[in-house]
Amino acid sequence: MSDKQPKRVFFRTVSVVLCSALLLASCQQHNNTQTFHRQFLSLGTLVNIEIAGADPQTAQAASTAVQKLLEDFTNQWRPDGEGELARINAALAAGESITLDADAQVLLTQATALSVKSGGLFNPAIYRLVRLWGFDVEDRADTPPPAAAAIAALVAQAPAMTDLQLEHGVLRSNNPAVQLDFGAYAKGVAVDRAIALLRSHGIRNAIVNAGGDLRAIGEYIGADGARAWRIGIRHPRAAGFLAAVQISGDECVFTSGDYERFFIYEGVRYHHILDPRSGYPATDFASVTVLHTDGATADAAATALLVAGEDQWRAVARALGLTKIMLVTRDGRILCTPAMCARTEFLTDVQPQQVPL
Ligand code: AMP
Ligand code: MG
Repeated sequence: MSDKQPKRVFFRTVSVVLCSALLLASCQQHNNTQTFHRQFLSLGTLVNIEIAGADPQTAQAASTAVQKLLEDFTNQWRPDGEGELARINAALAAGESITLDADAQVLLTQATALSVKSGGLFNPAIYRLVRLWGFDVEDRADTPPPAAAAIAALVAQAPAMTDLQLEHGVLRSNNPAVQLDFGAYAKGVAVDRAIALLRSHGIRNAIVNAGGDLRAIGEYIGADGARAWRIGIRHPRAAGFLAAVQISGDECVFTSGDYERFFIYEGVRYHHILDPRSGYPATDFASVTVLHTDGATADAAATALLVAGEDQWRAVARALGLTKIMLVTRDGRILCTPAMCARTEFLTDVQPQQVPL
């Protein structure tokens, strides 16, 4: 028997610290200001905060506040444990209604809107399916996938965000199969909130990077002056970067990938992003990267597009208002929308195919 206890995970595992996107900038001295760097574990991954062009005390105080925010957020929004989402899941499992505080109402409403726009492909109501597959624990063992009949039984119950009713702050479900997992979008919400908090401390140039998913504002300030932040996008099948994008102003980069959490059984790789229609891992893409102004949308969208596959990603992208998308197919092709191609520096020999939206 293994002495390794499965560890519950939230969002992504710490073992994927080799992020899908990494900050390529380094720390440098400039005009008595230094690029401030803080790193800690939160949101189930390694969080990096970079702050440029601020005095050290301000950067220190702001990043301390962000760390606290993200720790509280993690505790509240993991699907198990003692937080608000676990409390909601317990009530839903018991068939009971539950009164939500204002923050829970905001998150639930936003998640529902994104789910509906994605045609249900981003579906935070499928936590039971995620658990059936064992993707709620870190380092799932390479044991057989769930029985087809068990998967089919959950799919037949068709849990969806639209099964939930929120009236006057009271939530109830029409479908007993609904259990919530915000893992595909909460990191986006958290990064948005972290940037808003940094701004409230007067920070103008920063990156909040949660395991490769990030929001960047302002510019990187080095010894030779200010320039755009340069962000690397991880290769889904090799060490290192597939591409890099420049960000200045305010923008998010989110990637969903089949390499983030998976197990292999009898030579078949089963990954953690599930198609709610089939109950099985999505088949077409190895990774999907979305650039967007809003982190919550970018996060949910990257997941939804990975599920949508080659036939349907365009329709989902249009419904979610996306324009900058890069998709890597499981057979190694790189597709990018014109707006994404224009922004991206490709770092491999594979020529990207520009695809219209
Ligand atoms: P991400 O890395 O943002 O694509 O999120 C993946 C995580 O979201 C998984 O580990 C599951 O916890 C959860 N998940 C899997 N499939 C879906 C889906 N179709 N819709 C929403 N959440 C999902
Ligand atoms: Mg996501």
